[in-house]
Amino acid sequence: MNLRLVASLLLLSTFTYGQDYRWQQRVEYTMNIRMNVQTHQFTGDQKLVYYNNSPDTLSKVYYHLFFNAFQPGSMMDVRSRSIADPDRRVLDRIAKLKPEEIGYQHVQSLTQDGKATTYRVLGTLLEVTLAKPMLPKTKTTFDMKFEAQVPVQIRRSGRNNREGIAYSMTQWYPKLAEYDHQGWHAYEYVAREFHGVWGDFDVKITIDPTFVIGGTGKLQNPESIGHGYEKPGTNVKRPAGDLTWHFVAKDVVDFAWAADPDYTHERQQVPNGPELHFFYQKNEKTATTWKTMQPVAVKVFQHLNTVFGKYPFDTYSIIQGGDGGMEYPMCTLILGEGSQEGLNGVMAHEVAHSWYQMTLASNEALHAWMDEGYTDFASEEALNTIFNEPITHAGNYNSYFSLVNSGLQEPASQHSDHFSTNRAYSTAAYSLGAVFLHQLKYLIGTENFYKGMKRYYNTWKMRHPEPNDFLRVMEKTSGLQLHWYQRYWIGTTKRIDYGIQAVVDNNGSTLIQLQRIGEFPMPIDLVITYKDGSKELHYIPMNELLGSKPVEDKSMKRVEAETWPWVNPAYTLEVKRSTREIESVEIDPSLRMADINRKNNKVVLEALKPYQNPTQE
Ligand SMILES: [Zn+2]
Repeated sequence: MNLRLVASLLLLSTFTYGQDYRWQQRVEYTMNIRMNVQTHQFTGDQKLVYYNNSPDTLSKVYYHLFFNAFQPGSMMDVRSRSIADPDRRVLDRIAKLKPEEIGYQHVQSLTQDGKATTYRVLGTLLEVTLAKPMLPKTKTTFDMKFEAQVPVQIRRSGRNNREGIAYSMTQWYPKLAEYDHQGWHAYEYVAREFHGVWGDFDVKITIDPTFVIGGTGKLQNPESIGHGYEKPGTNVKRPAGDLTWHFVAKDVVDFAWAADPDYTHERQQVPNGPELHFFYQKNEKTATTWKTMQPVAVKVFQHLNTVFGKYPFDTYSIIQGGDGGMEYPMCTLILGEGSQEGLNGVMAHEVAHSWYQMTLASNEALHAWMDEGYTDFASEEALNTIFNEPITHAGNYNSYFSLVNSGLQEPASQHSDHFSTNRAYSTAAYSLGAVFLHQLKYLIGTENFYKGMKRYYNTWKMRHPEPNDFLRVMEKTSGLQLHWYQRYWIGTTKRIDYGIQAVVDNNGSTLIQLQRIGEFPMPIDLVITYKDGSKELHYIPMNELLGSKPVEDKSMKRVEAETWPWVNPAYTLEVKRSTREIESVEIDPSLRMADINRKNNKVVLEALKPYQNPTQE
């Protein structure tokens, strides 16, 4: 066999057996936008270089035309008018929009490498049949001309939001859908959650000179437009006529912006971190709340950088706009006139999305819990730390318990738009996601948990991680098996309920009889408190973990008990009687296990009753 043949055989075998299914597509957008602030319409030239890194030949591609959702009869409109608990921001407002108030994106021409394509509009999607199929590992260039109308602000984007911000420009341009090892993620815009292709944006926006723009990316021409470089004592000269703002953003999944004539622009520098920009309308209230929020934002960045991994971009803008708070790469749009606490909370949540959506970018339509839940978890821990509060995530546990009691819970593994109620979606995404993590500390130990969170971020940044990717990192970090945990917590609505059935005396030892009442198995931390005040942790492993978590609290003696197989509904722990008398026995006093009935988790002993054979098993 000659060397060349060996080499080609080797190549062939890598290709056949070693194919990496985690390739990802890439985009490079160059856009020229011209906004007419009288008609609220704009025109766009969009050049898109698309890299097909997949092993597939593509004969079609899909774009999102999100603004088309803001038209009477759209899927977003119908869904909002038929779901049991509509978003109060939407209700039937879309159905009532007049022609000059609706949103649209009209594609006027679209070529591929200079040749005409054929395309058709499917609601908020554009299906494009390519002039020439794209072979694997090739690139192609799409040139599109489009015109659009900014809708009256209904949801996230739009004009004249309720605080009077002129333009909240999010989901505003024809955006290529993501294609990955699962195929096209071309979902209609019904309510929520986005998924994008990694890439670069070079965007020029021409607009009336009285407007100030904040958004994704870095402003490239501050001097020539006289914005964004304010040096004390400089007399800023602005050219006459419309201004063209030039932004560049690299390695992002989207591009958003907002514009208003009355924005105040302020900055803060995060030590060893990004420069923060704040855009808001200053009034008596916001002058105080936004000033107070700014150093908190710096501390949130510092906390997240230290605990969860480093923010990868060099700027971030917090912009008043939209209809609540919504995350975008390198910026957020938030309402600005609420209470100080509300403003800090929304800011921290949206900032934390820079980790769990803008850097990791899990598919939030399919795994919203990995985005909203992790974000809520991280921002709450940042704020708890900054304001010296205990980290309990109690709010998220309580909303989970309340959903369980409502009977509305559905598996968190569903597509975000397909839950039967908005409540079931939001509790699944935010609360179950956050509880998933806090409860994971209980399973693998707090130290392993934080080590794993950082490792997960550093391993998967800019790669669209999926549930298995997260679990594998946590398994490798802890040495414990965890897939069962995701299957139960995310894939089902099974509940955790353990109880102490009895504590009895048996010839010089104490028998603690435990019950698994719910179907969801867990390892058990059982803490015995003695009358002399000393405590002892009895750790009962569960067989699916294939091991034990490390000792978490070195100040308390830990006794490792026999493993509790998940099929067994009952378990008896025998504690040899010592000179100390038992005062109480409690399952998980850390309250990290989401046990739906905590009333049966603790027994305070009076006199021990002698042991009787159970009549029931
Ligand atoms: Zn969020």
